[in-house]
Amino acid sequence: MCALDNRQAAARVMARCDELAAISESADGLTRVYLSPEHQRANALVGEWMQGAGMRTWQDAVGNICGRYEGQSAGAQALLLGSHLDTVRNAGRYDGMLGVIAAIEVVQRFHDLGIRLPLAIEIVGFGDEEGTRFGITLLGSRGLTGSWPQQWLAQADADGISVAQAMTAWGLDGSAIASAARPVGDFAAYLELHIEQGPCLEREALALGVVTAINGARRLNCHFIGQAGHAGTVPMSHRQDALAAAAHWMVAIEARTRQHGPQLVATVGRLQCHPGAVNVIPGEVELTLDVRGPEDHALAELLDDLLGEGEAIARQRGLSFAASQYYGICATRCDAAMQASLAQVLSEVQGRSLSLPSGAGHDAIAMAERWPVGMLFVRCAGGISHNPAEAVAAEDVGLAVDAYARWAQALAEQPPESAA
Ligand SMILES: [Zn+2]
Repeated sequence: MCALDNRQAAARVMARCDELAAISESADGLTRVYLSPEHQRANALVGEWMQGAGMRTWQDAVGNICGRYEGQSAGAQALLLGSHLDTVRNAGRYDGMLGVIAAIEVVQRFHDLGIRLPLAIEIVGFGDEEGTRFGITLLGSRGLTGSWPQQWLAQADADGISVAQAMTAWGLDGSAIASAARPVGDFAAYLELHIEQGPCLEREALALGVVTAINGARRLNCHFIGQAGHAGTVPMSHRQDALAAAAHWMVAIEARTRQHGPQLVATVGRLQCHPGAVNVIPGEVELTLDVRGPEDHALAELLDDLLGEGEAIARQRGLSFAASQYYGICATRCDAAMQASLAQVLSEVQGRSLSLPSGAGHDAIAMAERWPVGMLFVRCAGGISHNPAEAVAAEDVGLAVDAYARWAQALAEQPPESAA
């Protein structure tokens, strides 16, 4: 495609990212969560864009918006292109959305040129990847893979509304979730374009990169339990201050994770202190721990070390410590043949290719349970994401659409063997 086509495609993608970003539960910033009125509006708008690109559209049983562009023969196996349409709180406008909108632009290109491929192209805009509302992630993609645990229906949001209740209010039927699952034979592969959400491509002065693997992750709820007491009368030597213990542990988490290697990360993102009064020694602290890494055994070793340290700190201070994992996911390898075909395309469009792991979780994690997956990363400014300052360059987006279309076409003509 010529540079002008790429510029026009990029301009449309950027404008659509802006349009979607305006669909938010708050006027000052972007927040769009699963099964909200904004989710409904986003699906309607994305569905219109899909139809404009010559696709047939539908909404599935877990609230994903789906579209299909037929191949050379009706009912052919499809390549599935997708990403998510939900956001974190006060989000950027490209995380997830760019992948869906760029995929529509790819189909638009085939449609405009009258190209029909040996495989159909389907696009999915997942309703929940981030887990912002219910604290459980990948609800959209696990709908397609048919691996939705039944207990998810009872999971409640901050207002006490369960997934099942939210589904009913939204017009879905919690007992029909299984019908969102797609037979393995429906798709040859899953492709996802996503912003990098990290600084590696920018450091290498490259617009696009090939993802090798998605980091595994564990999330835990942790507790330090000490003794609440009078801030004025209990001497320092007699305290069992749960917050001081938590602070001690948090500093240790930072130091130890660094020692375990540069590809591992650990974060305490939420902390609640009880009773939480200025004149009371904290008796109990609840905090979360999130650890991630590209290799499962290294991650397990780190986690053992951090939890052992939490216990040791609690013991030294006369407190008790407990931790329970509520979420865990293994590292996900991207399909080798799909990595190779994407690397070939990136060498064509930007002179060279770079391969890198993904530090963030993506829908491709769930999709890899059933289908070969491949991911294309797009550079984002400063590696900043989950932040309103998230930004991509229009020039990079034009190149990304071009690369994505070439990659999809190459895979539609020669699907990865593992799908056969
Ligand atoms: Zn994302």
